[in-house]
Amino acid sequence: MTTSANTQSSGELKYEGKAKRVFATANPGEYRVEYKDDATAFNAQKRGSWAGKGATNNAITALLYPQLEDAGVPTHFLKKLSDTEQLVRAVTIVPIEVIVRNVAAGSFAKKLGLEEGTPLSRPVVEYCYKSDALGDPLVNTDTAVALGWASVAEMKRIRQLAIQVRDFLTPYFLTRGIRLIDFKLEFGKLPGLSDPGEAIVLADEISPDTCRFWDAETGEKMDKDRFRRDLGGVEAAYAEMLRRIEQG
Ligand code: 5GP
Repeated sequence: MTTSANTQSSGELKYEGKAKRVFATANPGEYRVEYKDDATAFNAQKRGSWAGKGATNNAITALLYPQLEDAGVPTHFLKKLSDTEQLVRAVTIVPIEVIVRNVAAGSFAKKLGLEEGTPLSRPVVEYCYKSDALGDPLVNTDTAVALGWASVAEMKRIRQLAIQVRDFLTPYFLTRGIRLIDFKLEFGKLPGLSDPGEAIVLADEISPDTCRFWDAETGEKMDKDRFRRDLGGVEAAYAEMLRRIEQG
């Protein structure tokens, strides 16, 4: 095992996103992810930062991913290394944001002229191309296959896993007094595996940055919409989400 001894030292920066940095480690099969305090919205046109954001999102993801593994969803997560760092399996990210919706909100509500909070009779899975410059445009399976991002079988597996995540997380949060309105996932491919059942794993993070959480009693927003919409209380909302997840 080479993991923890080698991961604390800084390896080559592989990727820098809006909220995280990904570093190589001494083990080519593992990356170290560093969660930043930076927040962006509207395809990086709005920027902010608050102390503790990276640690909170790291803690939430590090609690949720092992539980998703137990529920049958393979993930890239290996272990938490520090307040703001985790060790993950090295994957190639499929350049698609997979959005799952239980309730109409955000861009879906706006696009279709629906009131936020309108219930959906079944979950809706949407795919967006990961490109801030293009505004994360909506795409479909044909687009992903035609452009070589994923095969038909990989897209089928991605959709299946996205629904599995939804089926686990929706009741998980409801028992903690939270309605899971919608969320965004990213998937990666493990190298050298051709069977999508083995190759595709849940990557990235699940946190108030990537989900809409509404308090089940008060309807209060407990997620990044507090930052996007200048509602205030963003740090307290993130901390409260961590508290409810830690409560178990
Ligand atoms: P919408 O399409 O309504 O803006 O977002 C749907 C869901 O996906 C929300 O929970 C939102 O937080 C998440 N989401 C969509 N795009 C992004 C993105 O580029 N970054 C992050 N962090 N979350 C996103």
